[in-house]
Amino acid sequence: MSYTGGCSCGSVRFAISKNLYLLACHCNECKKRTGSAFGLSVVVETENVENYQGETKTFTRKSESGRPVSYEFCPVCGSTIRWGIEAVPSRSIFAGGNFDDLSQFSVAGEMYIETAMDWSRLGCNLAQVGEPDNEFRAALIEKSK
Ligand SMILES: [Zn+2]
Ligand SMILES: [Zn+2]
Repeated sequence: MSYTGGCSCGSVRFAISKNLYLLACHCNECKKRTGSAFGLSVVVETENVENYQGETKTFTRKSESGRPVSYEFCPVCGSTIRWGIEAVPSRSIFAGGNFDDLSQFSVAGEMYIETAMDWSRLGCNLAQVGEPDNEFRAALIEKSK
């Protein structure tokens, strides 16, 4: 099974062989990044990224807990492609909406629910206030098996 995707203009393309989980994030930085009410994160082990082509630029911001998050985005169309966080250095996080077929994934949980709009909560059983911890990540992986 391969999951393929790319940016809006098509100059960045990627494929992954396996994903750990799909997560919705209601933090305010995801609102800025997407221009929408929440972000979608497809979390993968970087070793399962089979193909990643096209030029990207990087923008680094601080997370709400103060740690750096570096986004790779397409300099032509501006789509965010992927990012990484220090807490899980072996993993890459892809912006969900860039996958060619987002219906291949089920949403496993949501986080930063305290800054969600009343009308944007997804009703996931796995719902975290604030940032994820390892226990929450393990539950998301288990739910997605
Ligand atoms: Zn592009
Ligand atoms: Zn977020």
